[in-house]
Amino acid sequence: MEQSFIMIKPDGVQRGLVGDIISRFENKGFSLKGLKLVSVDRAFAEKHYADLSARPFFNALVQYIISGPVVAMVWEGKSVVATGRKIIGATNPSDSAPGTIRGDFAIEMGRNVIHGSDAVESAAREIALWFPEGVVGWTSSLHPWVYEK
Ligand code: GDP
Ligand code: MG
Repeated sequence: MEQSFIMIKPDGVQRGLVGDIISRFENKGFSLKGLKLVSVDRAFAEKHYADLSARPFFNALVQYIISGPVVAMVWEGKSVVATGRKIIGATNPSDSAPGTIRGDFAIEMGRNVIHGSDAVESAAREIALWFPEGVVGWTSSLHPWVYEK
C-alpha cells in the first residue's frame, strides 16, 4: 500500500494544530505508520529540501524548518500521496482552497504549516531520510469499513 511522508512544520506545532491535522488524515481513513516529534539541524533540513537548493527562498526555508520541533509522520493508504496533497492544499496559502489545511490555517508560503510528499518516489526518499529505523507494520481493524477489498 502507498505511503506518504507528512510533516507538521514548526509553526503548526507552535500554533497547536497537531491534533487537528492528524484528525484530518485519520478521518479520511488513512493509517498512521510512523510518528515522532523531532528538531532537525541545518544539514538535515538542507538534505530534505535538496531539490530546492538553487531557489532564492532556500535559506529562509531551511531556517524556518529548523526554527522549532516538527512532527514527522508516515501515512498509508490508497493514493495517499496525491490525496494528501489535496488535503494539504496549494503551496501558496493565498491559492489554497478553504477546507484544506493551508487554506484553513495559513496566510504566507514561508509559514504554510505542513509538508507532504509530491510523488511516490519522493515519498520513499523522504521516509528513508526521516525514518531510517523503519516504520510500524500494522493493519487497522477498520480496514474493511474503509476499503471495498
Ligand atoms: P510544497 O511541496 O507545496 O511544500 O512546495 P515546494 O516543494 O515547492 O516548496 C517547499 C516549501 O518551500 C513550501 O512549502 C514553502 O514553505 C516554501 N516555498 C516554496 N516556494 C516559495 C516561495 O516562492 N517563497 C517562499 N518564501 N517560500 C516558498
Ligand atoms: Mg514539495
